[in-house]
Amino acid sequence: MDAATITSWMREIDVAVRAERDHLVQLDAAIGDGDHGTNMVRGFEAVVQALGADAGTLVSTVGGASGPLWGSALRSGGRVLGEQMTFEGNQLVEVLSAALASVKDLGTAAVGDKTMVDALEPAVDTLRSRLHDGVALDQALDAAAAAAEAGMRSTVPLQARKGRASYLGERSVGHQDPGATSTALILRALQKAATKGA
Ligand code: ADP
Ligand code: MG
Repeated sequence: MDAATITSWMREIDVAVRAERDHLVQLDAAIGDGDHGTNMVRGFEAVVQALGADAGTLVSTVGGASGPLWGSALRSGGRVLGEQMTFEGNQLVEVLSAALASVKDLGTAAVGDKTMVDALEPAVDTLRSRLHDGVALDQALDAAAAAAEAGMRSTVPLQARKGRASYLGERSVGHQDPGATSTALILRALQKAATKGA
């Protein structure tokens, strides 16, 4: 993998959030304020325009809670790679771990709080353990994306403890978290981008 993999990942995210914009808006309208789809589209459109992906662009453009969270994720992840020309699976794990750590640091959410962390953390853990077991990168990324999707679905019965949805208390139960949903799209986009480059 190399810088082109990252560029292709950001483009795949742009395509995916655009295609799912209305779905993300509907999910956020149920337990938030209905802007998650437009926030994500606006943010990643700006990232693609600004490529090499500039985290400051994302922070200032996404808006909502997810803007600073994804901005810090990209900034921390990007810092791991630095100016490196190529990277391997284990470094991708470090990138995603750093991104997860900064999201948890900034948002203070843990798994089970009904946020993007419910999709991101199992994805990172799955990628790390599959690669550790010697599974090929494309299969490990497929498993990581599947783990994010399972994490996304796991948010449905949960009561939100962070973010806007937490204001709803018990009424947040029975709805899929929008941020976990866009996170699953982002992990699936990574699998597609890395597979294309291979
Ligand atoms: P806002 O809630 O400000 O309108 P968005 O609608 O863009 O922002 O994003 C909402 C998503 O952000 C939620 O579905 C949730 O996944 C995520 N989120 C909110 N607060 C936090 C937090 N403290 N930590 C992690 N993720 C969070
Ligand atoms: Mg919102």
